[in-house]
Amino acid sequence: MPSLPPTAFRTPLESATLARVTWLIGMRWLFILAIVLGAAAGSHFHPDLPLESLLQLGALGACYNLLLHFIHLRLAPLPDARKQPIIKGLIQVQVLADWLVLLAVIHWTGGIESPLLHFFIFHLALSAVFLSPGFTILALAFIITATSLLFAAEATGLLAPVALRGLTSAAKQQSWPYILNFCFWYFSTLVLMALLLGSVMRSLRRREEEALRIRQRLEKANEELRRAGAERIRLMHSMGHELRSPLAAAQSMLSALELSHGLQLPTAVRGILGRVAGRLAGLTGLIGELLELAEERRGGAVAARRVELGALLEGLLEEYGERAREQQVALALERRPGEEACVSGDPARLRRVFENLLSNAVKYSRPGGAVRVGLRRLPVGDEEPGQVEVAVADEGIGIAADQLPRLFAEFYRTPQSRRHTAQGTGLGLAITRDLVEAAGGRILVESELERGSTFRVLLPRVP
Ligand code: ADP
Repeated sequence: MPSLPPTAFRTPLESATLARVTWLIGMRWLFILAIVLGAAAGSHFHPDLPLESLLQLGALGACYNLLLHFIHLRLAPLPDARKQPIIKGLIQVQVLADWLVLLAVIHWTGGIESPLLHFFIFHLALSAVFLSPGFTILALAFIITATSLLFAAEATGLLAPVALRGLTSAAKQQSWPYILNFCFWYFSTLVLMALLLGSVMRSLRRREEEALRIRQRLEKANEELRRAGAERIRLMHSMGHELRSPLAAAQSMLSALELSHGLQLPTAVRGILGRVAGRLAGLTGLIGELLELAEERRGGAVAARRVELGALLEGLLEEYGERAREQQVALALERRPGEEACVSGDPARLRRVFENLLSNAVKYSRPGGAVRVGLRRLPVGDEEPGQVEVAVADEGIGIAADQLPRLFAEFYRTPQSRRHTAQGTGLGLAITRDLVEAAGGRILVESELERGSTFRVLLPRVP
């Protein structure tokens, strides 16, 4: 099991404690203000309230809170690993100091009858949630011992009980049955709460540490995957380059042979050589696409500029007109006259996207079929606001529904397309999807076997 880093605050919950320090200092200012204002107001109604002692206590609290504030400011620029153990120690010191102050306030506001005894319950809950289980036990022992000693000192007269007329009475503070009864209920509440919160927090911490370990494992696996992916791309790239030169040499030798001895060779041999030349051309195309894909996956800066897709598609359709006519396929561009559809991207890469889709649509059409390229701006408020849609639709061989999910995977070709033509590498759509996604868009496909396919490219529109 991988171990966690050896810092004092390892889990998100512990890190939250770090953020709580400033909160703790802020809360203390409020508490000090409440002591001072409460003492001033209380002494007005209860002359027995030791105003001077309470004000001195407030001043003492203000001094140490100021000191803590400055220490905290000095620690802030330090790296986490250095400051966290110091902060953790500081929190424990602060909490202990707060309890001593609270104990004094309790004594001066009625001892065993002081309503401020509730603050100990609140403090204990905070320790159980934010500090270690060991510290919570220490806190529980401290509160029980310190309050017992205070109640005993007041009961025996070692400390003069503070009686506030109408609120507390010295008789109660010195009545042992009352003290024992109160202590039983008060302490059992504290113990039960510490046990309950302790067990809840233990299981929460265990789960948190487990989640942290899982996250670390996932991050490691992710990093390994990323490295393996980069290695695969590097391999694809160098393999493509290595294969390209012997292939080019074989092709030029073949054409030299055809030029010098072509006419003297028997027809059967010329036929074989023609097929070899065709295969070599196919292989050159495949290597070219493989290199293109590797280049695309490597990433890198793309010089984007504003491209008007209408003009780009018109040019492309003109180029493909001849090939489509040869295959007896009708080509048409459908767009609203005068409507500009601009996107941001590299014109050559965008051209490659639509070239792939258009050449596939023509390639997988049957004679007499039609290919329609639709260009439109999706209205704002539609399903895709602020987008330009290019839809390349054909009436060709189509794609079966169960093959659609694999369509954009490298080297995938459907059985129907293999039967229809031997030409194809299965890399064009993988490249197309990468190019579209790099331009911030997405590509969708709808198809029905034997009825045709529609590829929709959605790109963010620029004004
Ligand atoms: P290829 O070079 O084989 O055309 P692509 O990556 O461009 O490679 O396409 C992958 C596969 O998707 C094709 O081999 C074909 O099976 C299927 N395909 C792509 N476009 C169409 C289309 N318009 N109609 C039918 N099948 C298509």
